[in-house]
Amino acid sequence: MQLFQPQEVIVERGSEASPIYRNLRTALPGVPFRIVDAFAAESDRTSVSAGTFGAAKRRLVLTRHKGEFLKKCPGSEGQVCCNYFVINFASNCPMDCSYCYLQEYLADNPELKVFSNVGDLLNEGDELLSKHRRFFFRIGTGEITDSLALDPYIGFAREVVPFFADQPNVLLELKTKSDCVDGLLGLDPKDRVVVSWSMNPQRVIDLDEHETASLSERLVAARRCQNAGYRLGFHFDPIVEYPNWEVDYEEMLNQIFSSVDWRKIAWLSMGVLRATPSLKRIIRDRFPRTQLLTGEQVRCPDGKLRYFQPLRVEMYRRMLGWIRRAAPTVKVYLCMESKEVWEQVFGFAPSCEKELGNQMVPSF
Ligand code: SF4
Repeated sequence: MQLFQPQEVIVERGSEASPIYRNLRTALPGVPFRIVDAFAAESDRTSVSAGTFGAAKRRLVLTRHKGEFLKKCPGSEGQVCCNYFVINFASNCPMDCSYCYLQEYLADNPELKVFSNVGDLLNEGDELLSKHRRFFFRIGTGEITDSLALDPYIGFAREVVPFFADQPNVLLELKTKSDCVDGLLGLDPKDRVVVSWSMNPQRVIDLDEHETASLSERLVAARRCQNAGYRLGFHFDPIVEYPNWEVDYEEMLNQIFSSVDWRKIAWLSMGVLRATPSLKRIIRDRFPRTQLLTGEQVRCPDGKLRYFQPLRVEMYRRMLGWIRRAAPTVKVYLCMESKEVWEQVFGFAPSCEKELGNQMVPSF
């Protein structure tokens, strides 16, 4: 995977004392650093153009986070939700997938930002987890950024993994399309940390997951994490339909199950390609040669365009069959799908998000 080399690091005054600042200085010796009193985007904030969003990824901003770090995952209206919490330690991502929903979600605020006040994040986590000791939390850091792609430069994982590893009622999920796991390997996750990868066949990676790790790099990284004591997760999301997709996806699953021990997998998820009409326009604008938009898609109750329901069900059933052949009891769930689809794929649908969340808690 390519090294991340921003054109500039902009540091908001007050963040120079943070460990992340020191880590950035060490990891990016040739990159200019500029200290500013307050960061104000110099780019046009009102709309994302093909140039603006891509340019924002090449400049890193280090600033304090002013709001709450921990939030409940927003899910999608009318879809079964898995009761997940998210920590936003950064915003935007140095990689550049054609289908990335951040292109729309962060259109007015596309700067690649990392938050320096990690102490506040840990205090918030401590308060939440100690107040609700009888509730088991699943918390992820990969909602509006990639959990690990910036880790070699900011060293975030070694600040948070030891904290979460010591908590009795949480699983922390670090979700990535990178192979940046070196910072994790010397830490003891104490069974409380899941490192997970979004997976697609190499053909999809080549066409639409720009600047991410290759499939084989992701698998090598997964095996290294497994050997270091981490639980693993894999997210088949977005699954993309194209002529002979089945051949590539079955082969990818075979590669996964021959690379890692499925008994160390905490969960797998599946979700097909989806986009709002406005994200579709952005994708067309930024990635005119993508083939993601050629298949037929229909508008669902949450306003997103997805493949026609019978096709989705067929795709999930095929995937589930290949998964079950290799890993008969591994936990599998659908991401942002309706109860009808759940019932057709699994023969049941969770009655509520709490039930699904509970099902996802592995045995210790
Ligand atoms: S890795 Fe994830 S967050 Fe980064 S560009 Fe791709 S989809 Fe977006």
